[in-house]
Amino acid sequence: MKGKKIVLTSDPTMMSTYHGGAILGFTATLPKSVLPDFAFRRLFCPPMAAASDGSALLAPCGMRKVEAALLEAGFDRSEVMVAHPDHLDKAIGPETEIVGITHDDPLGKIALREIEEMIGRGEPHNRSKFLALINHPLIKEHKPKLVVGGMGSWELLGEDVPVDHIFLGEGEGDFPEICRSIINGDEVPKVIRGTAVAGGDIPVNRGPTIAGIVEVGRGCWRGCSFCSPSMRTVRHRPLDKILDDVTVNLKAGQKDVVLHSEDVFTYGSSGAKLDGEKVKKLFREVKRLGPRTVDISHVSLATAYQNQDLLREVSRIVGVGRDQKYMSAWVGIETGSCRILQMHMPRKASPKNPESWPEIVRDCYRLFGEESWLPVGSLVLGLPGETAEDVLQTIELVESLKDYTGLLMPLFFSSMSETRLGGTTSFGKDRAFPEHWELVGLCLEYNLRHLKALHRFYSERMTVGPGVHAVHKGITLIADVAMTKYLKRMKRGEPPN
Ligand code: SF4
Repeated sequence: MKGKKIVLTSDPTMMSTYHGGAILGFTATLPKSVLPDFAFRRLFCPPMAAASDGSALLAPCGMRKVEAALLEAGFDRSEVMVAHPDHLDKAIGPETEIVGITHDDPLGKIALREIEEMIGRGEPHNRSKFLALINHPLIKEHKPKLVVGGMGSWELLGEDVPVDHIFLGEGEGDFPEICRSIINGDEVPKVIRGTAVAGGDIPVNRGPTIAGIVEVGRGCWRGCSFCSPSMRTVRHRPLDKILDDVTVNLKAGQKDVVLHSEDVFTYGSSGAKLDGEKVKKLFREVKRLGPRTVDISHVSLATAYQNQDLLREVSRIVGVGRDQKYMSAWVGIETGSCRILQMHMPRKASPKNPESWPEIVRDCYRLFGEESWLPVGSLVLGLPGETAEDVLQTIELVESLKDYTGLLMPLFFSSMSETRLGGTTSFGKDRAFPEHWELVGLCLEYNLRHLKALHRFYSERMTVGPGVHAVHKGITLIADVAMTKYLKRMKRGEPPN
């Protein structure tokens, strides 16, 4: 087996179907001692199917973009492979020059990082599986150049890990040239910064994506200090290319579509003033292609608040309540403190002022409830300058949302190198106020309260049989009981352990 010249892959936490419920991927933040490997892979992060040549039948959208860019840049199909992590023996050999790994959170520094600190029972699955991949015996034997890219590649900066290159930023423009340089034996820096490509130059995928994710655009103009998309200019893809990506997915048997950008309602516009007709056309045309469901990856609460009729219209076009039970979207609440909003996210509420933020959030949650949208809301804990009083205001806001079905993700602030807060100290357990624990406890209580309803809703998109559903329901009940002691402690303002 000679091996493919360029092998694109990732570890099993990234290369999974998640049983059709991408939210299950968050279990990758748990350690093995809490969720053993066999249960993790069987119940939450099952491997996707592989073709007989060892290629993965599904891949993360970012990996598909890099694959397409390499092929468009002149590499031959026989030289490039999106490889299944369980079948690297069919991909990596003596002629493999480059292994490109895409990862969102390779060292577990972003998503629910507090779980590791709270439970204190070992490293999370995402870190251990990433480290196992980069130390794979075939990589050690054949010594291809290891390039790590994707949203989480910044986590490797300054870390003692055996990778040759860390690729930051967008890959479609520069990665093919970098590959040529590596293959020619040229000097290539350890840290590479990919330049942004124009919306029209984001290529059409050559294969289907996990969860049916289809990229609509990149970047965000709201400029929050802790966020990396805010550092990128806003660009959108032409409608025909978006539809081509949907078609690639549907032809390969994917049934659901998730339209991805930082704020899908800004499609076709570059700032606060939306082009509602373009947005409606986007949804109408996607719907015409016949997916079973259409979801949105992210929507800004301020945009939804300002454009409530548009949200209702999109619900009707998609057929929420008729063709699909609900629509899901990630929303960034981040804080209930107008002071913190002004300090770190001054344009988050725009065109309203930061003082309107709690009202915007509450109004959007009411609208989501009316329109059967399920929000997954993120909160950022421990932003620089946050006081106990700020956290109390977030607690008050979260309390007011408790009857609306959804999920809340309280995330410890991580100082990402590619943001305006890069270089500051990340938040951790040692700096937490009692109010932070109270807030985490409140979010946990909210999630446990809505878990049964969410499971019922999510089962619409899930691909598992009744056996796994029954186990998931059982785990929900066990989690309810097992978490009670932590929850009580945190709600008293005490650390969970
Ligand atoms: S609104 Fe969201 S995507 Fe935009 S800069 Fe702020 S956190 Fe980032």
